[in-house]
Amino acid sequence: MRKPLIAGNWKMHFTVPEGLEYALQLRRDLEPYSAVVDAVILPPAVMLWEIANALRGCAIEVGAQNAGWEDQGPFTGEISPKMLAGWCHYLLIGHSERRQLFNETDEELNRKLHAGLRHRLKVILAVGETLEEYEAGRTAEVITRQLNAAVYGVELRQATELSVAYEPVWAIGTGKAATPQYANETMGLIRRLLESPFGALASEIRILYGGSVTPANARSLMEQPEIDGGLVGGASLKAADFTGSSRRRLRCCSRRECERTRAGTRSRDHRRLGLPSGAGGQRDRRCQETELGRALGAMAAHHPGRGRRARRSTGGSAGELRGWPPQYRRRADRLPGPDPDQPRDSRRKLQAEPGFAAGHD
Ligand code: PEP
Repeated sequence: MRKPLIAGNWKMHFTVPEGLEYALQLRRDLEPYSAVVDAVILPPAVMLWEIANALRGCAIEVGAQNAGWEDQGPFTGEISPKMLAGWCHYLLIGHSERRQLFNETDEELNRKLHAGLRHRLKVILAVGETLEEYEAGRTAEVITRQLNAAVYGVELRQATELSVAYEPVWAIGTGKAATPQYANETMGLIRRLLESPFGALASEIRILYGGSVTPANARSLMEQPEIDGGLVGGASLKAADFTGSSRRRLRCCSRRECERTRAGTRSRDHRRLGLPSGAGGQRDRRCQETELGRALGAMAAHHPGRGRRARRSTGGSAGELRGWPPQYRRRADRLPGPDPDQPRDSRRKLQAEPGFAAGHD
């Protein structure tokens, strides 16, 4: 089962001290909920090492927003996946800002993907159509080209380290998110495309939605069966949207849960999801206020087994912390392990046709 993943793309925001302070706030607020949602932040490269250090031993992971494909050499201004290996967990590639502003090609992204996976980074590959392509009805064609080119030559054993972010370019930073149905259908297409090189493993690959995710629309997006989480830009910069709301909602699956928790009862669902009951007489009111967090909770609560994954969220490169001094190699073994009896979610069955919905918010 796929565990939800929420990635915050900070883009070119925050000074180093500001980023560090914000990361520490995230650590305090989100870490207790790592059993139900994987959270990763993607700070600018200049503060990546500092923030990785600040978050070490914590389940919030860090990722780079970009990297080259060579290990080293005369590439002024570039960082390499080799430099990130062992302490940085994720690598985002193919963001539309990289494709459009920096003219990154499908072939280059294929090289970056190989380099990232070679250095055991968990790669988030972003794909998405422009407004022009969308209006011309070329979404499927564009997604197919971008995805097939990027994953060309990737081996099966590496595919589990891959996530795909579907980000319609017209939705990024515009305040116009895709409708949940449109996003879900396009992401269904992405999963079918992934089946060609990766077979059954495609059902293990997380597909995220990105593009104007806000507290107001997050829940309806995240409830969709093909949406395994979000790549969040603008809203990830605001504690009230990304941090506070996630924290608040993740404590509560519903108003009823709040009331039970307030009465001191740790419900069966809370136990199943590994959520802390805690205290707090105002919890029910806080839940009402927090739509993005509500969406995260909804993903965990309404998709049986989604709080679990066949491998630990801090496993792989995060769990090993290769190259780190022993005192830092204390990754949590406290997250739930594999559950072989977990039934497959029937909603994962792929539809025959993508059936793109027209329009968006
Ligand atoms: C992004 O940059 O990946 C993104 C999704 O941005 P926003 O959430 O601001 O649309």
